[in-house]
Amino acid sequence: MVGSGGREHALCWAIAASPLCDKLYCAPGNPGIAEEAELVAIAAMELDRIVDFAREKSIDLVVVGPEPPLVAGLVDKLDAAGIKAFGPRAAAAALEGSKGFTKDFCARHKIPTAAYQRFTDAGKASAYVRQKGAPIVVKADGLAAGKGVTVARTVDEALAAVADALVGGRFGSAGASVVVEEFLEGEIASFFALIDGVDVLPLQSVQDHKAVGDGETGPNTGGMGAYAPVAAMTPAMEQQVMDRIVRPTVRAMAAEGAPYKGVLFTELMICRDGPKLIEFNVRFGDPECQVLMMRLKSDLVPALVAACDGELKSFDLRWHADAVLTVVLAAKGYPDTPKPGGAIGGLDRASALPGVKIFQAGTKLDAAGRLVAAGGRVLNVTARAPDVAEAQALAYRAVDLVDFPDGFCRRDIGWRAVPSRAR
Ligand code: AMP
Repeated sequence: MVGSGGREHALCWAIAASPLCDKLYCAPGNPGIAEEAELVAIAAMELDRIVDFAREKSIDLVVVGPEPPLVAGLVDKLDAAGIKAFGPRAAAAALEGSKGFTKDFCARHKIPTAAYQRFTDAGKASAYVRQKGAPIVVKADGLAAGKGVTVARTVDEALAAVADALVGGRFGSAGASVVVEEFLEGEIASFFALIDGVDVLPLQSVQDHKAVGDGETGPNTGGMGAYAPVAAMTPAMEQQVMDRIVRPTVRAMAAEGAPYKGVLFTELMICRDGPKLIEFNVRFGDPECQVLMMRLKSDLVPALVAACDGELKSFDLRWHADAVLTVVLAAKGYPDTPKPGGAIGGLDRASALPGVKIFQAGTKLDAAGRLVAAGGRVLNVTARAPDVAEAQALAYRAVDLVDFPDGFCRRDIGWRAVPSRAR
């Protein structure tokens, strides 16, 4: 496993439980992942060191968690070395690596998404913003760790976002080009599918909560909590997403010479006139993955191998009927300036509640061997129960047993499913 967050902890937890797994390494991992895997001190972007390590240990399967090494071509390098790897090659990872690429791809293949224009010139971008008016959305083209998107309520806010990216260089080369697009009104949902280059195995839908504050207030984050099932994602809606967005994308990527393999994370706005693509991600969502892994009943490993080997066609996975909800505990100051080093306690008693699992994200052991915060999103307190309301109640019961004075969380994760019980 490559990566070190809550997503990778959940994946390691699922992989380690497989009878097919006799040894699991994680580079670089975190103290929670160390309970499932042997940690290797190689960073996720040290691509050549990862390939060398995999060769040296005769690794049978490498699973890449985060997007930067995928976009940088880790899977291409592993393929070249004859090592089986789960995740898209760089050419297919452009579906996340360049928003402009994806918008043009959607336009070519009539995949429903917000109307847009691409700009490298601040004057032209500003003129377009003034012509269209607010609300309007400004996005840095490249990877910006979830911070490159401004949903502008006013023209001034949009102009400032354009200037930040194209004049101020706020996102470096990732923001040297921007997409300015139509604001879509609707409900956000994430849909996941495994893809083997040709065939698609739908997984499940999950709903994330991007804003840092209760009631969807404050700046956007990587995600403050998630749950499934999502009521708006009915079987009919999932079928539309498959027919209008996912399958056409897989066909077109293959036709364009960049067949897609791995997991495709389709972020959607469910609008009045049907689902529209907000963006693709070329990896599991974080914290959506934690929810998926807790709902998955089948062994994950054969599915990952089938995606690598082009054998998804007749593959099937079984899921728990129960709901799962995860609450992110973040360090105070997140997303701008998370406070590092805050002490964490109470994980054992919180995890002892039946149906609760705590995944670790930004954690480390300090010099004295105590668990402390080392990142923005620190813990994912995850609960499985018969319905979303019960999963929510159980997750917050566990949250309240965790001792993390320098942390905070939203108290309303799952509010669309449990509106009367915002906690
Ligand atoms: P992204 O990084 O593309 O996932 O965007 C971050 C968040 O901004 C999304 O989860 C949406 O809530 C919001 N967003 C992005 N694009 C649009 C859009 N065209 N219309 C409305 N909201 C959007």
